[in-house]
Amino acid sequence: MTIRLAAPLQRDSVVDGYGVRTVIWTQGCSHNCPFCQNPQTHDFDGGKEVELKEIFEELKTLKDQDGITLSGGDPLFQIEPITEIAKYAKHLGLNVWCYTGFTYEKILEFAQDKPIYLEFLKYIDVLVDGKFEIAKKDLTLLFRGSSNQRLIDVPATLKQNKVIIIPESDGIIDNFKNKNKLYI
Ligand code: SF4
Repeated sequence: MTIRLAAPLQRDSVVDGYGVRTVIWTQGCSHNCPFCQNPQTHDFDGGKEVELKEIFEELKTLKDQDGITLSGGDPLFQIEPITEIAKYAKHLGLNVWCYTGFTYEKILEFAQDKPIYLEFLKYIDVLVDGKFEIAKKDLTLLFRGSSNQRLIDVPATLKQNKVIIIPESDGIIDNFKNKNKLYI
């Protein structure tokens, strides 16, 4: 199986989720958010096609990384390979964040026809969902650009069957970090 990537894996990011992370930049997105900062990732024929086994080998060599972050582009347009990557990262003990322009509710809708979307969610620790909306841009937000985007605790959301958002106050982020064994 292959995946189309916009760039090589990027290690040591501290802005794409909690801690020190390796980002997988997927190629392809049709959300067309105004003022998107990564328009070069939109073309579904752009970037480079990479064998998953190459990515797995690279993930095995990671050191001092809290987890991986799936970003793009929109990773959800390549649901089969990103599910395999998320599954493998969990197998290695890495936590997994994913950025998507789709909302969590939309992903559940997709899952009604294609169960792989639900399987994918089972390997995700945090989903940052929704399009970037310039009218809601807020530079003070943690790990996201606009206030409509949510930091969703996916395991808790699946367990409680309602969207559980990670709050940014009252030490709850610290609790979340501890729960996920992060060390920033
Ligand atoms: S979802 Fe992300 S990559 Fe796609 S258009 Fe919106 S900001 Fe750009």
